[in-house]
Amino acid sequence: MKIYFHPDFLKHYAFDPAAEPGRLEPALAALERKYPLHEPQSAVEDDILLVHTPRHWLSIAKDQLLHHTALLAAGAAKAAAETAAGGEHAFALCRPPGHHASSDSCWGFCYYNNIAVAVSSLLDRKMIDSALIVDFDLHFGDGTANIFKRNDAVFFWHSRESAPTLFLEALENDLEKYNPNIIAVSAGFDRGVDDWGGMLNIKHYHRIGALLARSARQKCGNRLFAVLEGGYNPRALAANIEAFLQGMEEE
Ligand SMILES: [Zn+2]
Repeated sequence: MKIYFHPDFLKHYAFDPAAEPGRLEPALAALERKYPLHEPQSAVEDDILLVHTPRHWLSIAKDQLLHHTALLAAGAAKAAAETAAGGEHAFALCRPPGHHASSDSCWGFCYYNNIAVAVSSLLDRKMIDSALIVDFDLHFGDGTANIFKRNDAVFFWHSRESAPTLFLEALENDLEKYNPNIIAVSAGFDRGVDDWGGMLNIKHYHRIGALLARSARQKCGNRLFAVLEGGYNPRALAANIEAFLQGMEEE
């Protein structure tokens, strides 16, 4: 398991819940105890333009700190994807999140679509020829779905099930249906019992990690990575990320 993190993710780059001071510190402390952390390089313009318009790039670039942080987050996702392409699990502890960023617009505390940049970068370099993106955030990743809607090589999964058992069943059953080269995860923890969704506990997140790791082992040579999306209660976020990664490792 490789964890990608950059100290600049702690900076207050915007006024929104994802950029809130103190949001990532407990998760960072928890992961630091268990794993070596790897600093990602920033994504560059060519990476971003794989999925976004030049106009969108220019609109984000107006704000220097936001742009810097958003490029680092896309870079962390890209690094995690490259590690996963080699058969090792990876997680990007990063912000801003990305799954509400479409090609030419964004909302919901997202600016560049980190997971879309990461997957597109592997596809572009022919390191993979298909991907399954599993988005278990409370909110539908409309940006990701928009970006890949005409791309037959990328499948997008999200469930609106509001009961934990049904949610886990849906994930387990649906994972059987796909045969991707890699599983990319938009890991949003705002469905947590102590978060906005009030639904999933640490056992559920552990199970999600295990289901994804099992599927990756059986279907795509262990190629699995996850990128942080939502999750707004700092302590719960830390515990949920830890449980999810443990599930990935124990499978
Ligand atoms: Zn969300």
